[in-house]
Amino acid sequence: MKTTELHVSTPEFQEELRQSVRTICKDYPDEYWRKLDETNAYPEEFVKALSEAGFLAALIPEEYGGSGLSVTDASIIMEEINRSGANAGACHAQMYTMGTLLRHGSEEQKKKYLTKIADGSLRLQAFGVTEPNTGSDTTQLKTVAVRKGDKYIVNGQKVFISRAEYSDLMLLLVRSTPVDQVKKRTEGLSVLLVDLKEAVGNGITIQPIRTMMNHATTELFIEDLEVPVENLIGEEGKGFSYILDGMNVERILIAAECIGDGYWFVDRATQYAKDRVVFNRPIGQNQGIQFPIAKSYINLEAADLMRFEAARLYDEGKACGKQANMAKLLAADASWEAANACLQTHGGFGFAEEYDVERKFRETRLYQVAPISTNLILSYVAQHILGMPRSY
Ligand SMILES: Cc1cc2nc3c(=O)[nH]c(=O)nc-3n(C[C@H](O)[C@H](O)[C@H](O)COP(=O)(O)OP(=O)(O)OC[C@H]3O[C@@H](n4cnc5c(N)ncnc54)[C@H](O)[C@@H]3O)c2cc1C
Repeated sequence: MKTTELHVSTPEFQEELRQSVRTICKDYPDEYWRKLDETNAYPEEFVKALSEAGFLAALIPEEYGGSGLSVTDASIIMEEINRSGANAGACHAQMYTMGTLLRHGSEEQKKKYLTKIADGSLRLQAFGVTEPNTGSDTTQLKTVAVRKGDKYIVNGQKVFISRAEYSDLMLLLVRSTPVDQVKKRTEGLSVLLVDLKEAVGNGITIQPIRTMMNHATTELFIEDLEVPVENLIGEEGKGFSYILDGMNVERILIAAECIGDGYWFVDRATQYAKDRVVFNRPIGQNQGIQFPIAKSYINLEAADLMRFEAARLYDEGKACGKQANMAKLLAADASWEAANACLQTHGGFGFAEEYDVERKFRETRLYQVAPISTNLILSYVAQHILGMPRSY
């Protein structure tokens, strides 16, 4: 990807970007993903290829060795990955977690880590927020960091922390001031950059969680983990706002992945509807088959407009919380609708692994729940956009 001379996001550049991602993805066809799914294995070669081509460093500024692209362009990368039949879930976190380091890290931290993330020698793929007993109520998290001299001693537990086994670094959200000693419960949380290669076996134990799709997610048990104070990102106690800061980018990128999934389902359903002959005619000649596919296509196109609107606002430095949340919800709903239409169109073959529909169906289902569940987006819109009382 020759982005240095092409970082202005013109339609021509965006098309070139799409083509470059497609070229890489062609080397990782359906069979590759199917095999990984069977064995619950990590797409090591695919992630390496994307890193070497610079795609995972798209949002890192050029001064730190990245491509300095816009969120609009980064979202196109994620969309194309999923549209090819691949699953960006293996590597998407690097795109949005590095923003916390970029916006709130010290110059020394940025030089030390961002440059290596950009050249692919370090991976920042893990993001440790969710806990077994607090779930969506993030500010109640129980993992604590107590400062002792030049170290934090961390104790606690995290759940559903994806890619921890395949990442060198992890951003970890911890409580550094007890909740009864802060004015607001959003205060007193801090973000630590954890060197996973050192920490595993020295304070962190990783236990994989098998899920309905291949997602390399894990549970982390943290016991007397020592993190140097120099690995604190930004100011102690302000971590929650740093994490919130990155949420809009996360929502936009995930929306783009859903859009990619959705088009994959529509393409496959349309092709199958044209090819499959039952009662001496293509099944796609029946309106009962056509309409659900057409409907999901319409909803996808509408969700895509919201995704580009959210990305545009973000890139122009404008508030985009409303649009980013709505884009995530609309895109997740549209991809799920398309997944159902695609599976139904395939009849029994939709359930056969060799068609890949059931795999993508399982993969896209996640986005109704993670990284933020649909209900929480609805609550956000009800409270912050429509001004209704807080419901939780
Ligand atoms: C495969 C996978 C990968 C993940 N990867 C990561 C990761 O890398 N890092 C990380 O930190 N987390 C990760 N997560 C966690 C994910 O962000 C959470 O699962 C998600 O935010 C929901 O939290 P929860 O599972 O605790 O559900 P809960 O908070 O327990 O909620 C359960 C259900 O209740 C609903 N609910 C809860 N409160 C309300 C309310 N007030 N009003 C209405 N409905 C409500 C929710 O919408 C949800 O449907 C991952 C999860 C999965 C499944």
